[in-house]
Amino acid sequence: MKSLLKTNSTRGWRGYAARAAALAGVLLAGACAYNETLGRNQLLFVSQGQMAELASSAWTDLKQKEPITTEAKYVNRVNRVAPKIIRAAGGNPAEWEVRVFKSDQINAFALPGGKIGIYTGILDIMENDAQIAAVMGHEVAHVNFNHSGERYSQTAAAQTALSAGSAIAGGGQVSTAAVQALGLGAQYGVLLPFSRKHELEADKFGVRYMARAGYNPNEAVKFWEKMSAQKNGAPPEFMSSHPSDATRIAQLKKEIALIKSGS
Ligand SMILES: [Zn+2]
Repeated sequence: MKSLLKTNSTRGWRGYAARAAALAGVLLAGACAYNETLGRNQLLFVSQGQMAELASSAWTDLKQKEPITTEAKYVNRVNRVAPKIIRAAGGNPAEWEVRVFKSDQINAFALPGGKIGIYTGILDIMENDAQIAAVMGHEVAHVNFNHSGERYSQTAAAQTALSAGSAIAGGGQVSTAAVQALGLGAQYGVLLPFSRKHELEADKFGVRYMARAGYNPNEAVKFWEKMSAQKNGAPPEFMSSHPSDATRIAQLKKEIALIKSGS
C-alpha cells in the first residue's frame, strides 16, 4: 500500500494506475453488503434503482423488437398468476410490468425494475398455473435479490482490477480502461448470465413464493424435470448449463420438504 500511495503522487501512467487501483479498492471495500435473507455478503456498488434505470432501455428495446401477444389464452393465464407471485414476493403488482412475447422460445426472464417477459413457447408446455408460478417465482427472486446488480458489480470490479494490474505491469492505458469498467453500458450489465449460486437462490426463493401464493410447489419439480427432457439448442435462462439439473431438482425437493414441515 505504501508504494501505491507514493506512486499516486507521481505523474504519468504510474499515477493513473495507482489511482485506478485505489479507486477499485475503495469501491470494493464500500460495496460489500450482508443480505440477511440470503445469508451471505453481496458485492454491490449499484442499487436496485440504478439497475432499474439501466434495464429500462433494454426493456424498451425488447418490446420494440419482439412481437407482443394479446391473445387471451396466454395473457389471461399470465395475468392470473403474476400478481399473486409478485405479492407473495413482497412486491406491489401495480409497480411491475408483465408481457407475453410471441415466440417459440422456451424462455422467460425478469429485469431489474420489475419487468417480466414470458414467451408463448414456454406457456405452451406448461400444464397448469402452478408451473407458470414456478417460473415466475424464480424470475422475481432474481430481481428481488438484485442478482443483475451483483453480476454487474463483479464484472466491473474484475475489469477494473485486471486493467489496473496489467497497466502497473506493462504500462497500458489504465485510466480509460478503469473508466470504461465503471461506466458499463446497459446491455452489458443487465443481460449478463447468472451464476450457479444465483440460479440456486432463485430456485429456492421462487418455490417459497409460489407456495406462499397458494400453488403446489411440487409442480416446480415436475416442470423442471420436464424442461431437462426438453433441452435443446441454447439453454433457456432458468435452465442454464450450470448448475446441473440434478442439483437443482435435489435442492428444490429439500426446500419443498422444509416448506411442508412449516420451517
Ligand atoms: Zn434464473
